[in-house]
Amino acid sequence: MSDNIQRFSFAELPIRGEIISLTKTIDTICDQHQYPKEVRHLLAESLAACCLLADIIKIEGRVSLQLQSASVIKLLLVECDNQGRMRGLLHINEEYEHLINSDPFNFKQWVANGQLAITIDPDKGQRYQGVVPLDQMTLAECLEDYFNMSEQLPTHIKIFADHHKAFGIFIQTLPQAADSSIGNEDTQQAFEHVTALTETVKQEEAFELSHEELLYRLFHQDEVSIYPEKTLKFECSCSRERNMAALTTLDPAELVSLVEEQNEIEMVCDFCSNKEIFNRQQIMELLISEADQGVIN
Ligand SMILES: [Zn+2]
Repeated sequence: MSDNIQRFSFAELPIRGEIISLTKTIDTICDQHQYPKEVRHLLAESLAACCLLADIIKIEGRVSLQLQSASVIKLLLVECDNQGRMRGLLHINEEYEHLINSDPFNFKQWVANGQLAITIDPDKGQRYQGVVPLDQMTLAECLEDYFNMSEQLPTHIKIFADHHKAFGIFIQTLPQAADSSIGNEDTQQAFEHVTALTETVKQEEAFELSHEELLYRLFHQDEVSIYPEKTLKFECSCSRERNMAALTTLDPAELVSLVEEQNEIEMVCDFCSNKEIFNRQQIMELLISEADQGVIN
């Protein structure tokens, strides 16, 4: 089974859902960086969460989750776009590295005094950023709380992750349910019913069953329909052109002194480790073309 996400809905219940499974994307991202097994777990969970959000938000563009803390996790950044392209990275605080090997994974401890931001970056239109409090025991619970508070739509998020697999399920009351003929109480009851069944999923079945099999096992009495799958994969958006654009934001004098000193400038992508080298001549050409454009403008 390739990495994919699928939407599902119920014939009679005012609830929408998403279900995701990831393996190859996690391996590709983690193997590029040789992340220790213990932190791959959190990266896997974050990738699944980010993709569930990107798909439920349904924008043309990119959704990212960025977590920074003064504890084990210095920086965690994951992104997913509407075409299912994902990338991610993780930096560990060296002074806390010993905790990774000595203690079992503990989300709250590893992100202590941290901040989590959701950024929605549409291709057209305004960027939006929300801050998610990190006061729950898992990332999924923190995001679930955020949705419940900010959108006031009852939401349930369940994620299983290990060092090379992630499975997630997202349940939410339909936004229009509150205004429809289905009473509020019935909506709440439907949400609680679906959430309770979702909570019965075990990690082994989440990792082993197909989405169809699992949804049938959970909701065969509720007339569940599953939509076609969207394939997910690792793909980095870095390019030589983007690196060049980044170089032009530096002070030209600084750029010249840098290339004089080192003879070339090496830029390594933090996400995919791709390396781009700019020699002295290329840097000079870049500066000249920038200066020309400056004159024309
Ligand atoms: Zn890259």
